[in-house]
Amino acid sequence: MRRSDVSSSEPATIPGLEAFAAPSADAASGAPRRGPSPEELLEGLNPPQRAAVTHSGPPLLVVAGAGSGKTRVLTRRIAWLISQRGAHPGSILAITFTNKAAAEMKERVEDLVGRRARVMWVSTFHSACVRILRKEIVNLGYKSNFSIYDAADQKRLMGLVCQDLDLDPRSYQPAQILNWVSDQKNELRDVEEAAKEAENGVEEIYAKAYATYQRRLREANALDFDDLIMTTVHLFREFPVVRETYRRRFRHVLVDEYQDTNHAQYALVHELCSQPMEDTDDRPGEQRVPPAELMVVGDADQSIYAFRGANIRNILDFEQDFPDATSILLEQNYRSTQTILTAANAVITHNQGRKEKRLWSEQGDGERIVGYVADDEHDEARFVSDQVDKLVDAGHKPSEVAVFYRTNAQSRVFEEVFIRTGQPYKVVGGVRFYERREVRDALAYLRALLNPDDQVSLRRIVNTPKRGIGDRAIACVTAYAETEGVTFWESLRRAEHAPGLATRSLSCIRGFVGLMDELQSMVAAGERADVVLESVLDKSGYLVELEESDDPQDATRVENLAELVAVAREFSDDPVAGPSADPADVDAGQVQPGLRDFLERVALVADSDQIPEDDDGVVTLMTLHTAKGLEFPMVFLTGLEDGVFPHARALGDTRELEEERRLAYVGVTRAQERLFISRALVRSAWGAPSHNPESRFVGELPVDLVDWRRTEADRTRWSRPDLSHSPAERRGSTGFGSITGAGRRNFTSAAMRADAASKAQRSREIPSLTPGDRVTHNSFGLGTVVTVEGQGEKAVASIDFGSQGVKRLLLRYAPVEKL
Ligand code: ATP
Ligand code: MG
Repeated sequence: MRRSDVSSSEPATIPGLEAFAAPSADAASGAPRRGPSPEELLEGLNPPQRAAVTHSGPPLLVVAGAGSGKTRVLTRRIAWLISQRGAHPGSILAITFTNKAAAEMKERVEDLVGRRARVMWVSTFHSACVRILRKEIVNLGYKSNFSIYDAADQKRLMGLVCQDLDLDPRSYQPAQILNWVSDQKNELRDVEEAAKEAENGVEEIYAKAYATYQRRLREANALDFDDLIMTTVHLFREFPVVRETYRRRFRHVLVDEYQDTNHAQYALVHELCSQPMEDTDDRPGEQRVPPAELMVVGDADQSIYAFRGANIRNILDFEQDFPDATSILLEQNYRSTQTILTAANAVITHNQGRKEKRLWSEQGDGERIVGYVADDEHDEARFVSDQVDKLVDAGHKPSEVAVFYRTNAQSRVFEEVFIRTGQPYKVVGGVRFYERREVRDALAYLRALLNPDDQVSLRRIVNTPKRGIGDRAIACVTAYAETEGVTFWESLRRAEHAPGLATRSLSCIRGFVGLMDELQSMVAAGERADVVLESVLDKSGYLVELEESDDPQDATRVENLAELVAVAREFSDDPVAGPSADPADVDAGQVQPGLRDFLERVALVADSDQIPEDDDGVVTLMTLHTAKGLEFPMVFLTGLEDGVFPHARALGDTRELEEERRLAYVGVTRAQERLFISRALVRSAWGAPSHNPESRFVGELPVDLVDWRRTEADRTRWSRPDLSHSPAERRGSTGFGSITGAGRRNFTSAAMRADAASKAQRSREIPSLTPGDRVTHNSFGLGTVVTVEGQGEKAVASIDFGSQGVKRLLLRYAPVEKL
């Protein structure tokens, strides 16, 4: 990954945040530090960048292409506000796209202006809203210890809602309903409004599900991810006094990647920064404050989150939304060679209705783009791996290399080839650490301890590990909770009154309640997150069960839990880490981050937070979406096939195609020195080979920029991929001996997947299933088939495994048996 271009010795993983060549902070001595001079703060900036940093007054929009220093300008501006304009750091709210970017930005500003910068709020929209809601949500009738539900919790809850409403699982899938609900929330439509605006019968049912889902969330004292923003906006609108508190507090609001804000986020910025309306009910006798100074930076050509409600119009209409706004255009790119920029410009010009901008670079033409047409995806992965070897032989570090692909599933072949060659690699955003079962179980314990009303978490762990509280016992307790109108937790406590409960179950439930009480007293005593977590794993018997198991996967699970404890320990040791700690208290050294802060941090980690920091030996693999905002000297853009990238879904839809093209623009502009593009003539999707034509984006590149090392005409052989064995087997022994570091960590699962797949392929018939069938699965246990799509080798079933959730399985591979 890119090293800083100035004097810092630290890697600047998020570009634009390089440490600054100012006199070093004398933090060690604790002596007050001389603030940087204006010249120092503006050093290394071009005139429009300087204008943006020093701008004062009306809202400011910095629109500029990739790599033109938007993030750098935003960071410098914060330092400028604090050191030159006397802004109190506590009056600054800066929004970044990931938590990692936030942490780094904060660090850079601290490098510039010293420790006092710590009280700034630099965070994602979600984290900022959590902080506000923890303080203020009591106004809306929630308790301030609300839980935050992530995607998996949401699915489980929506599953329950669908049962409540008796919805036919063939027509109404929780994931689909959730998408719709998410759209409503991003558009700030509450339950009533959604019901009013429902346009057809299906939407009316969705609106009903939305209402029940919200009711259940409220009962569990929980908010989902989209609620965080919507609820904050509603809170501000319903309680102008609360809003005024934050308007007074935040005198400066700065937003990076503004092109990817959705309507709710836009409305939040508006609440904080628009001119006050006349008819709001302010604090009597107090003067209204003028609006905060607002700066947003972004690039409409990099808007790639429309599917999550991002609205490109937010940036295009900025000048209308804020009539006195000023705009600054940055046109010099400092990241890439002219060849890479010309390629990026050539592609993006094919989008209609965009503002033309011409990026230029002083870095010279650099090398031509290297192109390769592969026989199949394995051949493509081999090409990438060979090129990485060559680059390393030529003196580059593997960490300077990134491999991008359109969808997560494409990482597998690259993983296999890197495992074979012993090249350490890291997949960012693949099977995410926090989505692994054991990690989720452990976190469910912690959440239930903090908020026993959180019944999704509580139900997840009540019999995990197995402690004799079976489905029947749970049904008795649930029924009792319903008749008595008490929570699930309360009902567990009073289980002796629950009709129909067997004595054995009752004593198991008592054991569980005793365990939770004991653990809860640790939480109440303010014990550190890592200590609580270790006690949970120990006292619940969870760890012992895994340790005693013969299943090699359980050994990996133990490692993952050890890693989670390490994460909690690192977090507890860092006194400024807690996102919900009050900045003033933190500054006074009063608050140790607690369990709640830890859970919040965990709930808010995004994909790109996993990017390795200073491991020189690791190649990074990630999807194009995750690559936003980053830069790498060497970039491989793979899978450039129509149907893969652009995605098949986008082929017939101009709007989606334009979004894919912006994604291509993002991908190309991550590269600093070298760009490699590749595609495969045949690619196996869902186990069946498909032949995809060249991506139209390749056709949009000027021909003279690309040096094709192999073309379609050059191919020497073409054969259908042999599907009877796993790819690893087809290529003979794997020779894992030399794997180190991150590569090793991924090895087990990749190898096991390949192995399991090949075994399954050789020996099993594909079960023929229909909705309603009962099945067993080697890992997930008993389940009920919800839907089946496709036939034969392509048949995919969604199966509800109860507490394990609903899984989509390719039946050809899945170890599923019909009962
Ligand atoms: P993106 O659109 O990808 O988010 P960006 O506009 O935010 O890009 P930055 O990441 O801030 O751009 O900057 C791109 C690179 O150029 C960084 O490595 C940054 O340090 C460098 N850079 C920016 N401005 C200058 C400058 N005036 N002189 C030298 N280098 C610069
Ligand atoms: Mg940026």
